[in-house]
Amino acid sequence: MKLATKPGEILHEGSASLRKSHHVKDAAFNRTLPESTATSEPPQRTIQRSIRDDQICVLTFDRPGSSANIFDLRTLKETAEELDFVAGAAELKGLIIISAKRSIFIAGADLHMMSAAASPEEVRELIELGQKVMNRLASLRIPTAAAIHGAAVGGGYELCLACDYRVASSDRATKIGLPEIQLGLLPAWGGSTRLPRLVGLPKALDVILAGKTLAAKPALKRGMIDEVVAPEHLMTMAIRLISRGKPHRPGHWAINNSLVASIIRARLRPQLFKKTRGHYPAVLKAMEVITRGISKSIPESLRFECDGILDLVRTDVCRNLIRVFFLQERAKKQSLEGASPPKPITRTAVIGAGVMGAGIAQWLSARRLPVILCDINTEQVARGMSSIGKLYRDGLKRHVFTQLEVREGLDRVYPAPTEVPLGQVDLVIEAAVENLDLKKKIFQRLDELSGKDTILATNTSALPVSELAAGTRRPERVLGLHFFNPVHRMQLVEIIVARQTSPEVLQRALRFVQQIGKLPVIVKDSPGFLVNRILMPYLVEAGNLFELGASVTDLDEAMLDFGMPMGPMRLLDEVGIDVALHVAKTLAAHYQDRMAIPQTLNKMVQVGLLGRKSGRGFYTHTKGKEPKANAEVSAERRSDINHPVPVRTDLQQRMVLLMINEAARCLEEQVVTDAADVDFAMIMGTGFAPFRGGPLRYADTLGAEKLVSQMDTLVASGNRHFAPCALLRSMAGNEQKFYADKGI
Ligand code: NAD
Repeated sequence: MKLATKPGEILHEGSASLRKSHHVKDAAFNRTLPESTATSEPPQRTIQRSIRDDQICVLTFDRPGSSANIFDLRTLKETAEELDFVAGAAELKGLIIISAKRSIFIAGADLHMMSAAASPEEVRELIELGQKVMNRLASLRIPTAAAIHGAAVGGGYELCLACDYRVASSDRATKIGLPEIQLGLLPAWGGSTRLPRLVGLPKALDVILAGKTLAAKPALKRGMIDEVVAPEHLMTMAIRLISRGKPHRPGHWAINNSLVASIIRARLRPQLFKKTRGHYPAVLKAMEVITRGISKSIPESLRFECDGILDLVRTDVCRNLIRVFFLQERAKKQSLEGASPPKPITRTAVIGAGVMGAGIAQWLSARRLPVILCDINTEQVARGMSSIGKLYRDGLKRHVFTQLEVREGLDRVYPAPTEVPLGQVDLVIEAAVENLDLKKKIFQRLDELSGKDTILATNTSALPVSELAAGTRRPERVLGLHFFNPVHRMQLVEIIVARQTSPEVLQRALRFVQQIGKLPVIVKDSPGFLVNRILMPYLVEAGNLFELGASVTDLDEAMLDFGMPMGPMRLLDEVGIDVALHVAKTLAAHYQDRMAIPQTLNKMVQVGLLGRKSGRGFYTHTKGKEPKANAEVSAERRSDINHPVPVRTDLQQRMVLLMINEAARCLEEQVVTDAADVDFAMIMGTGFAPFRGGPLRYADTLGAEKLVSQMDTLVASGNRHFAPCALLRSMAGNEQKFYADKGI
């Protein structure tokens, strides 16, 4: 069972598998199906029916005008109609369900139907209808098979579970699972009932409570499907399975009984509570539903599912998680108003083969883009190539790549230990060391070496992009593309618009970020941009509180309790104390009134306590062991402490208030113009407690008046850096919120 342990992780696994769609006014609802077995249906229908000569009926899901199949109300009703037809056609010998889409079988339910706009009655109706459809399928007298190619997740997999057999294609696009937990929900169209009966209670809990989606082979290993074949053999295998008749499956009686269920429940409850810190109620609810339903009849277990999801769907946690999902979808489709389709980026170069440069080059090459990787000498380039090799090898182990893909990916990276012409390159990403003078020189040189349309981007963490642009002859083609570390895990990319960046270049960069499968947020060029600017006051405050006597453990526990995936001291160690100090200093130069850098950070850098990379920082890091608080750092801090050490809740309050204040300032200064962009970027870039919806959504739940009063109290006790920004103060006076709506 895995919950958010890395920034943004709770959103990564599987959450992209449930798709949104727009409500479509349904014209086909009440149409009676033609009695004939004709193959063609009016084009607006999602399901195409055909009957083979061997009397096997094939239902092909092909949602008109979309690359995805999803279950909205209309598709559910259509499915019900088709199943009615199948049930009434005595001559039929079997049923196969398949998709016509390139990479999606059925990607679950339309989440709009679960949104805050839907009434409890509407949600209940939807759940009950879904259960009815799945039951109808499960109770057909003829054998049934799902032929899965592409994502069969959420409601899509629940449909498969209601079939007698499941065969999946070995293609990479095939993903199977129940990721509802990631959205604060539980599988309620029979998934929580049928999966444990199919694979046994422990395996089902493992999949559902972690919201896992699996490739075909691991799904086969767990018994979630019956066969894996090459895509071209999918239909043949489905027919072969049908020819076996109704299956007789083992009942898992030894593990699927009330005694085992109650033992598992007693053991899991405290474990899950500890892991989620009580922030993700869906995990506990799903566990209860599954373990209680296993010894009941299917209708009773389905009732548990329905009651369970109705409890969850109204929670703020669920609303916030669904909202984050929609924000991800928005980022994938975002485009600039009135912009024409940009020229695609087909050739790239990365300058600097260090941590970030190698990470970016590997990501681009894996996305089929050729990359020239430049550094100052052979040794540095070789170091970068070796990091890229390791990233590919790790991916191979995790079944992210095949051997062939690794070879092809590596072949797309061209090491360049000396200067090379870049005239044919569409985009150069500079990821050299964080030094303004050096970067200025690099940009001047890139200006000469590149073609006239080549976009020049910097991956700087906090340096002014407009200054880099100013040193070039065509500053309109310069911008920032700020990837996060580690590149292969972090989905967010900040696109930093310099004063000079042209709209065409911005649009091209935006499309590029989407093209390589990352999530963009467009931000104004200002110190620290968006994410680092909000994160840094929080980390610096953690350092200050440490100097006031708070322990490393208390500081980290305070923020883990809040819902961050990692505490601030641990994060400082992961980022590197030297790197964090550098960014903090860059920001402090601009925001002197509110950023006093703790001496501890300077001292640690001087003595080489750099965090994980040096083995010691606020923690000691030993391979294969949990990091332990490093006593030598605590021993070094000021001994003349007159202040009482703040208690854990005060620690949390202080660190969070600073993030909220800075987030509000970013809006005030129009670093971004939409509160949702701030929240989205903080969740995706730092893992800010997703269930709280981001710092500004969280601010709304507290109210500006309360926040300002808490900040004023801290200012009055000598903490000037808590002075609330003008926007918060005016919101407090006018009882305003960042979001006008209450829901999604
Ligand atoms: P790094 O020290 O690991 O790598 C920097 C590389 O740049 C080195 O290989 C160095 O040899 C090379 N280099 C130096 N001068 C060069 C030149 N003139 N031409 C070509 N290459 C040159 O640094 P990093 O952590 O990869 O950071 C690179 C950039 O990315 C910095 O601007 C940093 O602020 C930013 N960044 C870092 C992180 C992070 O967590 N490390 C995250 C986001 C952004």
